[in-house]
Amino acid sequence: MRSTMPDYPLTLQHFLWRSTTLFPTKEIVSRRETGRHRYTYADFGRRVAQLAHAIRELGVGPGDRVGTLAWNNYRHLELYFAVPCSGAVLHTLNPRLFPEHLEYVINDAEDKVIFVDASVVPVLQRVVKNLKGVKHFVVMSDGPSADGQLQPLASYEELIAGRPTLFPWPDLNEQDAAAMCYTSGTTGQPKGVVYSHRSSVLHSFGIAIGGGVGLQEADSILAIVPMFHANAWGLPYAATMLGAKQVFADRFLDPASLTELIRDERVTFSAGVPSVWIMLLQYLDQTGMNFDGLRMFVGGSALSAGLYDGLTRHGIDTNQGWGMTETSPVAACATIKSYMKESDPKPIRLKQGLPVAGVELRLSNVETGELVPWDGKSVGEIQVRGPWVTASYYRGVDADRFTADGWLKTGDVANVDREGYAQIVDRTKDLVKSGGEWISSVELESAIMGHPKVLEAAVIGVPHPKWQERPVAYVVPKPEFKGAISQREILDFLTPLVAKWWLPDEVRFTDEIPKTSVGKFDKKVIREQASKAPVTAQPSE
Ligand code: ADP
Repeated sequence: MRSTMPDYPLTLQHFLWRSTTLFPTKEIVSRRETGRHRYTYADFGRRVAQLAHAIRELGVGPGDRVGTLAWNNYRHLELYFAVPCSGAVLHTLNPRLFPEHLEYVINDAEDKVIFVDASVVPVLQRVVKNLKGVKHFVVMSDGPSADGQLQPLASYEELIAGRPTLFPWPDLNEQDAAAMCYTSGTTGQPKGVVYSHRSSVLHSFGIAIGGGVGLQEADSILAIVPMFHANAWGLPYAATMLGAKQVFADRFLDPASLTELIRDERVTFSAGVPSVWIMLLQYLDQTGMNFDGLRMFVGGSALSAGLYDGLTRHGIDTNQGWGMTETSPVAACATIKSYMKESDPKPIRLKQGLPVAGVELRLSNVETGELVPWDGKSVGEIQVRGPWVTASYYRGVDADRFTADGWLKTGDVANVDREGYAQIVDRTKDLVKSGGEWISSVELESAIMGHPKVLEAAVIGVPHPKWQERPVAYVVPKPEFKGAISQREILDFLTPLVAKWWLPDEVRFTDEIPKTSVGKFDKKVIREQASKAPVTAQPSE
């Protein structure tokens, strides 16, 4: 029997209509070079329509890709809507990519127009001569636009000025591509993931509901996670859907600027990778500032106990989520079940979480492919499927990342407890294999980062003649303990926390851990550095 319900298309046009019609006075605030830009959803809606007229005039048609190379700000938000709602595809580009990767993704996606923040123009200039299909560059700036090698070049503000503030939005199919994003290429060439209107809408519902990230109209939302990375975890879409106040930090991510923005704009929810929060925590410790009730969402890398404790000390309600570019990205979230409310939330928050409503998760034995039980101990690769989990990569590359029955093999190794909370042990490629057994680099890092003198720590496996691999820890001391911390102290601290054979063979102190373009530890680079300094010590018996 057929239902009586229509095939009402789930498109981002609905969010645009809803925010501008129902919440026209709510604010969108962006940090700029000097001061802040602020306007309302009503203003936003008018400019989105003007922008849609402009991109149509630039020759952008249905399905054409429009690249953006920009920080988190209101113009980028306008592109987030004008491009997909007019039937084109938003391709967010990461300005921190290596030039060869940037050039590759622009050409692979066949971007027709690129919108670029004035501060990022030099990044584009480095690759422009190798870009094959780009017909226009549009510079976004508060002042006159920079000229240079980008041709033909237009200025965003000049381009939209004087255009009609209404746009005849076309009928769209919910399965049409809305946006695309490439994985950051820490393993091989970047791979394209193409999001549909439907997946973007459902992902917004999925993260907004209480059992997900949990957002509401009353929130003031500051996405620190870049808009060029996995849709800023879907926050701009979910916030617009709800009509919530949005706050953008642009490229001003130093702790002083961030705390000022959080305080002045009464931010209630913020999200970012641990490396940003580690810097912020240091600042809060120095200044003694508190943010009582602020909800902070950590993802992209594991939330360590030290970071959790530190943020909690400053009144911050810290939660963790897990996902990847391939999963739009939020797939799991460490929400506490009602009957667990009495117990300490910390052990749960330190897990990557329960699959959010809409996402199915299973564990698969890395070698045999058999299902692994959810007992909180047995480990396997996480596989997921759902309406916002990609079923392939753009152009069908790397098809072996998907099972025959339609699950994405995530490459993350985890255990899942009886309640359904997943805890990531490692990425398959980062596990340290010592004497035939696995050592979790993530667990070791979290444990080391619990040491009061440690700011950051990354652990990698280094080839070893007898044990195959042994763990080596790279540790950044807090500035006040530079030169005043020893390998012995770290190992003594770890001894009661981990198995003896897990203890790193060596602790190497360093000023900085190399990071990827999205702020995660770049283990590829650390491994390269380490290969020049092999380990010779024997593990403790
Ligand atoms: P890339 O694969 O290029 O690093 P993604 O941002 O898509 O880009 O990374 C997804 C990966 O990040 C996941 O597969 C997982 O390994 C890691 N990750 C994401 N969230 C968490 C988390 N909360 N804890 C540990 N690892 C995480």
